[in-house]
Amino acid sequence: MKVIPAGLYIHIPFCLSKCAYCSFYSIKSTNLIPDYLGALRKEIKFYSKDFHSFDTIYLGGGTPSLLSPEQLTSIFSVIHETYKIAANAEITLEANPGDISPEYLKALRNLGINRLNIGIQSFDDKLLQFLGRRHSAREGIEAIDAARQAGFDNLGIDLIYGVQGKGIKSWKNTLLKAVSFSPEHISCYQLSLDKKTPLYKTYSQEGWQLPAEETGLIFFSTTAEELENAGYIHYEVSNFARTDHLKSSHNLKYWRHVPYLGIGPGAHSFLDKKRWWNKSSVRNYLAELAQNKMPVEDSEILTGEQLQLEALFLGLRTKEGIEIKLYQQKHGTDLLVEKKAIIEKLLEDKLVRIDDGFLSPTRAGLAVADSLALI
Ligand code: SF4
Repeated sequence: MKVIPAGLYIHIPFCLSKCAYCSFYSIKSTNLIPDYLGALRKEIKFYSKDFHSFDTIYLGGGTPSLLSPEQLTSIFSVIHETYKIAANAEITLEANPGDISPEYLKALRNLGINRLNIGIQSFDDKLLQFLGRRHSAREGIEAIDAARQAGFDNLGIDLIYGVQGKGIKSWKNTLLKAVSFSPEHISCYQLSLDKKTPLYKTYSQEGWQLPAEETGLIFFSTTAEELENAGYIHYEVSNFARTDHLKSSHNLKYWRHVPYLGIGPGAHSFLDKKRWWNKSSVRNYLAELAQNKMPVEDSEILTGEQLQLEALFLGLRTKEGIEIKLYQQKHGTDLLVEKKAIIEKLLEDKLVRIDDGFLSPTRAGLAVADSLALI
């Protein structure tokens, strides 16, 4: 197979407690972590014939910051033994504010982790409790300060909006507070509730509703305005960066449809039109690897039509949009001819623009990016 610098994702599916709104798969049994690390090391080595080099590594979860420096070292050593990692690779770790001490942060730096994404979510203790987060607002702020002192100059924070009882004014204050720390990257997600979550049950019992579509759009445009006024680039539906260079290079790989390898339960991978994904249960994942089997649940080869649809869906989630010439090279069709009528309508509705060879969503278009992709 081709030698392509791809992105490497490592999933750490452990959380000490479950946030009330979270529907991601994670488990509390941290006693499984040593076995889990052994399995990860095995799976990482499996792909040495398909992937050779990476220029981004992303440790996500779950809660990667539950791992000790020694445990992280055991993962990084096998990565470096097996693959070539670009000298300037972006290496991110998702962290929970309560987990990071100055000593821990120093150890992360020594491992080559140069980007930290902290799950702040809010600066309001009552809201954090409501969401079932296991950290306080003060711990969030201390985590940001400690990361700066440890030398992290590429810091991302995650925030949640649209929570019961918290209107636009409260959200604007959250954004102002976030901006006061000048993080390089901010991700803002509207609360959504899966039926299986405790918070969904609370909402149902109390007769509360998530923000209506119109209110959601107001939150969205307020977020974009506030952060753009503060100098951030709104480069993807939920993501803002202080400069082009500070966009998440790893996540851009997903949106640009370039190869990535996902390691760990439930992780997805993509290479040469093929997508595959792992078994999602930690125990099943461990059982497969204990027998030296690939822990893959299933795979698919994307057809030309599926690749085009995904390129549209993913590309129109980003401010940059779709490079028309590149689209033609990859898919053998002129997007502007093939989708002429609908693109004209979207242009008329000011949901997209064509500029400098790119078809890109406007801010109004980004707000409805999921439906734009249905062109
Ligand atoms: S820390 Fe993240 S993955 Fe874990 S329960 Fe909370 S939201 Fe879910």
